[in-house]
Amino acid sequence: MMKHEKTVRTTCPFCGVGCQLDLSIDQGRIVSVSAPENAAPNFGRLCAKGRFGTDYVHHPSRIRTPLIRKNLDSGKRTPVGMEGFREASWDEALDLAAERLSLAVKTQGADSIGTFCSAKATNEDTYIFQKFVRGILKTNNIDHCARLCHAASVAGLQKAIGSSAMSNAIAEMKNLDVFIVTGSNTTETHPVISTFLKEAVVKNGAKLIVIDPRKIELSGFAALHLQHRPGTDVAVYQAMANVVVTEELENRSFIDRRTENFEMYRKSLEGFTPELAESITGVKAVLIREAARMYAEAERAAVYWGMGISQSVHGTDNTLSIANLALLCGHLGKPGTGLNPLRGQNNVQGCSDSGGLPGIFPGYQSVADAEIQKKFEEKWNVTGLSKTAGLTVLEMSDAAGKGDIDTYLIMGENPMMSEPDLNTARKHFEQLKTIIIVDIFLNESGAYGDIILPAVPFAEKDGTFTNSDRRVQLIRKAVPSPGEAQTDWRIIQDLALRVEKKLGLPPSGGFAFQSASEVWDEMSGLVPAFGGISHQRIDREGGVHWPCPDPAHPGTPYLFADSFPRGRGLFTVLDCRLESERTSSAYPYLLSTGRVLYHWHGGTMTRRSVLDKIYPESVVEMNPLDAEAEGYEEGQRVSVSSRRGTIISRIKITERSPMGVVFMPIHFAESPVNELTKDLRDPEAKIPDFKQSAVRIAAAG
Ligand code: SF4
Repeated sequence: MMKHEKTVRTTCPFCGVGCQLDLSIDQGRIVSVSAPENAAPNFGRLCAKGRFGTDYVHHPSRIRTPLIRKNLDSGKRTPVGMEGFREASWDEALDLAAERLSLAVKTQGADSIGTFCSAKATNEDTYIFQKFVRGILKTNNIDHCARLCHAASVAGLQKAIGSSAMSNAIAEMKNLDVFIVTGSNTTETHPVISTFLKEAVVKNGAKLIVIDPRKIELSGFAALHLQHRPGTDVAVYQAMANVVVTEELENRSFIDRRTENFEMYRKSLEGFTPELAESITGVKAVLIREAARMYAEAERAAVYWGMGISQSVHGTDNTLSIANLALLCGHLGKPGTGLNPLRGQNNVQGCSDSGGLPGIFPGYQSVADAEIQKKFEEKWNVTGLSKTAGLTVLEMSDAAGKGDIDTYLIMGENPMMSEPDLNTARKHFEQLKTIIIVDIFLNESGAYGDIILPAVPFAEKDGTFTNSDRRVQLIRKAVPSPGEAQTDWRIIQDLALRVEKKLGLPPSGGFAFQSASEVWDEMSGLVPAFGGISHQRIDREGGVHWPCPDPAHPGTPYLFADSFPRGRGLFTVLDCRLESERTSSAYPYLLSTGRVLYHWHGGTMTRRSVLDKIYPESVVEMNPLDAEAEGYEEGQRVSVSSRRGTIISRIKITERSPMGVVFMPIHFAESPVNELTKDLRDPEAKIPDFKQSAVRIAAAG
């Protein structure tokens, strides 16, 4: 075996599985990546991204010094490459950023600033970011990409049980008896989790029910595949619940002990027969009955879902319909059961936990609660924290379009790839007076920036990520940073001190941290669920599942053994709303969007890794019968148009797509699929309806 200078244990920077990695380092570079056999959650397994995709860290286009736009304030904002910026010292760039932010506060008010924190950054980065935004700028306009992926899961689960976290640990997948995978192409989005799920089927005889319009790889392992029409999820789950109640398969004792509003819910299911659902969803009634019985009669049953459930104009209802079914059958509070939204980004769980949302302090403590506010004001040594929940990602874009927000601070996000209806989103972006970016590369959003502050990726800093099953794990500095790039929380800390001074605020003393571990300690002192977690403990144990209220507590791999955070689980009466964009003769296909195995979200990292050679360009996945009817061949160049824009791609013929439905990945700036998607939002979660846009396809030259 080849010898390397050192090996550093850390956590994968891509998806929410949170795989543990051993980075082999030679001469300041990552030369190979392996997975420790004895460490949760992946126990020796990695996907292509974790094993081969971390070379982006050493890409020559990393930003090495602070940058300032050459034609600053010259009128119309246009995207520029590196040549459009000049290098600056940290002092000059931070001073300018502080000047712009403090001027915005003084002249327009704090709520004229919109801020984006990052699900790729550490918990410590997020904590300092939101402390600055809330404690110094005094606005709650802070949000991140969770709004665009699982906001509806959060809204639905909060309403049903009072907690939006994944209820069970990845390690429990081996205990599954029956499980549903819905709205998640797990093999490509959470590859290591998919190996555990497949193992549950193949080795343990667990029964898998896939509920998904697409014929995903897991369908091949499923006892049942309910291939419903896009956007009809609620009808499937309501009909399953109807079967459970009609055939008296519900868990009466659980319902009596642990839930409320059952009678109203039961009544609402009358008439919602599998036959009615068949007419709405296209799934045979007999399959719905079989799935309902299989789930209800299981000893232990869990549901795993992804963005196919949440990225919908009725995503909150989709989530509630799943939660209703779990409450009905009592499949919560035991190992191998539960409600499990598979979180996308490596630290999207942690970014929300650490306060990167507009209405909450760290630990989901409401900004509107006077007692909570007092606690944070005392600890942070500040006054006048805003009690008004801030704006969400897309509301900030709306406000920018109207001129109500004119300054953006963006740390590690790429809204110019991730927002729906990109052509409109760009117009809003172009109207901003100042855009300050903290990032590792000049991506599609950075190209519009005024001040670029060079940050560092996972391999160049210490801190923690919290994975999809609430396990807080360490990342460790393994290689030096290029040029003058700095750790995100240190950049924000320096910026905070300068803004504090420019605003004439009394020094809070709250931005003098020397290490990520110190930052965590302050946060854990304010968040009861983190009270027993420290960097030192994670270093010893490998990871700790929150809630973990004190050092003697073992952590909590599965939740809700005795109660739900809201007390009793709430059954919600649902209408089967079907509004979304429909196909027409002009736009005859429904477009769904998502991730593929070899890439990550906006592509900022994987498009700069060796993985890009394997999957270098966008495709539009089309059913063979549709392709034959249209006369398209594999690899043919086509234009894909919606009512909002047109992009170019290549045909990929595959039975994964049902007839009439096409799929495109979200990763390619050359074919930005969000130019096609629409900004229609779930009314509660404010998440856009990414999965259902009507498009037409035509041969391109
Ligand atoms: Fe990284 Fe996710 Fe792949 Fe694990 S499954 S190696 S966390 S991308």
